[in-house]
Amino acid sequence: MTNFSELGLQEDLLKAISDLGFESPSEVQAQAIPILLEKDTDLVALAQTGTGKTAAFGFPLIQKINLDQRHTQGLILSPTRELCLQITNEFQNYGKYSSGLRTVAVYGGASITDQEKQIKKGAQIIVATPGRMKDMLKRGMIDISQLAYCVLDEADEMLNMGFYEDITDILAHSPKEKSTWLFSATMPKEVSNIAKKFMNSPKEITVGQRNVSTKNVSHEYFLVSARDRYNALKRLVDVNPEVYACVFCRTKRDTQKVAERLIEDGYNAAALHGDLSQSQRDMVMKSFRNKQVQILVATDVAARGIDVDDITHVINYQLPDEVEIYTHRSGRTGRAGKTGKSLVILTKSELRKIKQIERIIGQNFTEESIPSGEEICEKQLFHLVNEIKETEINPKIDAYLPKLEEMLIDLTKEDLIKKFFSVEFTRFYNYYKDAGSISKPSASERDFQSNERSDETRFFINLGEKDGFNWMQLKDFLKETLDLGRDAVAKVDVKDSFSFFNVAKTDEPKVMQIFENFTYQGRNINVEITKDKGGRGGGRKRNDRKKSGGFGKRRDDNKSGFSGARKGKKSNVESSFNRRRSKKK
Ligand code: ADP
Ligand code: MG
Repeated sequence: MTNFSELGLQEDLLKAISDLGFESPSEVQAQAIPILLEKDTDLVALAQTGTGKTAAFGFPLIQKINLDQRHTQGLILSPTRELCLQITNEFQNYGKYSSGLRTVAVYGGASITDQEKQIKKGAQIIVATPGRMKDMLKRGMIDISQLAYCVLDEADEMLNMGFYEDITDILAHSPKEKSTWLFSATMPKEVSNIAKKFMNSPKEITVGQRNVSTKNVSHEYFLVSARDRYNALKRLVDVNPEVYACVFCRTKRDTQKVAERLIEDGYNAAALHGDLSQSQRDMVMKSFRNKQVQILVATDVAARGIDVDDITHVINYQLPDEVEIYTHRSGRTGRAGKTGKSLVILTKSELRKIKQIERIIGQNFTEESIPSGEEICEKQLFHLVNEIKETEINPKIDAYLPKLEEMLIDLTKEDLIKKFFSVEFTRFYNYYKDAGSISKPSASERDFQSNERSDETRFFINLGEKDGFNWMQLKDFLKETLDLGRDAVAKVDVKDSFSFFNVAKTDEPKVMQIFENFTYQGRNINVEITKDKGGRGGGRKRNDRKKSGGFGKRRDDNKSGFSGARKGKKSNVESSFNRRRSKKK
């Protein structure tokens, strides 16, 4: 183990270290300090939080600046006011015996003139948030024209917070021939861009493992139209016959709905959310752990307790509102040394979130396309072949063998193979042969939310603010009443006594049907199709339409009834989740 005294630090600093009670340098300190002391160099250091980075740059910086001069020689940029104050405070301790050292903190939300005064008194080191620093430079309150060392602390976090331009502006005020030391927990593209742009062949050190969970997890996203979300999910499951997945939705309601649809469509799925009782949740978790449930659809909150090691896929049916939560989700897979995939189904409007997430996880996504029906059929077929090859022969079969042979005697081996696999293959094939492809929305195609789409119908409804609706409440009401899925109702525009909303053209008959003879709080509700995108009138009245029978629960006609989740591992517990599993068609 190295000792602080072996790193090349001066006596005044070693004394301060001893006062601090630091016995030996941490790994990043042991690596960075000698490099930084030896000669002026640029440095990129990657190390997790809590590894002692402050001292790793703090001691060398204090040793290197000229305490006899009062101009600013060192600048530390840090993402938040708290960190600024923390670093400044640490520096007081580090520089306890370095007489003449002055470190000043500069951050927003406090008097700028006070900070200016502090600096005017002489500050060899400034610890600053980028925003305030830039501001003070612009106003001529700080002079960094003789800066020799610039530290970018928590660089990933600063870029994550949108400080890129501020940082580049600040660096532009500083001399070219200075040393830049960059410290970061992760190394997203933006950080390496900064390194490339502003640093001169930096030395690089990496300490410890970079976020272990993300190292084993690859991240993929799939761009789809909002209405394809569910079918995209199905395909992602179908193309992975061995899938053991956690699917995340944003709300309890979506979680329940997606799980129900999956179950209806024949998958071993279950929902986990806060509306379940504790014993229900325990049962779901038990079944998931036993792999009787292969697809667990969960809310973020409910998923907190999931401690299952061999989850193969995390599927983000919707991205979380807070991008930070993504790491918690993706961390459910790639555990215990295994690899995993985190898949994101997203629409164009969410694409910018991917960039933010990439910064947080320090890893890039790859864009993939939703597999074609053909691909899925093939995957399932070969999966089955392998499964058969690996199936242990049950000796009890021997008794039936003569009879089986007799029954199959007219078939050639080739025919037998064909027929055998057709049993399974045909089901997938029939489902996917007409299913078309789920392609990403074309460049010209606007998001589903847009009113430019020609495959939507705009409706008028005589409910409005007077009835106590704002647009969000009305949207919820419509979604609930129409039961068309989460993104089915768009462009809700609430007026005083009436409103407008859009629904896919294909759902037009259903909307008219549902609102036929519909009452709300004792009042007849009138729904009309509007020709005008936003205006009223011109539409055909619902009453003009022939009555066409009642509307029952939505039948789903694109069941595949089919997935890896289908096979084996059947038990009585499963049937309770999967009672409605569709049989072969
Ligand atoms: P980071 O910036 O990497 O997140 P910090 O520099 O904030 O980490 O250090 C984390 C904590 O570890 C601080 O409380 C600091 O005082 C302490 N620390 C740093 N170096 C040492 C050391 N060599 N020995 C003991 N404690 C240390
Ligand atoms: Mg730190």
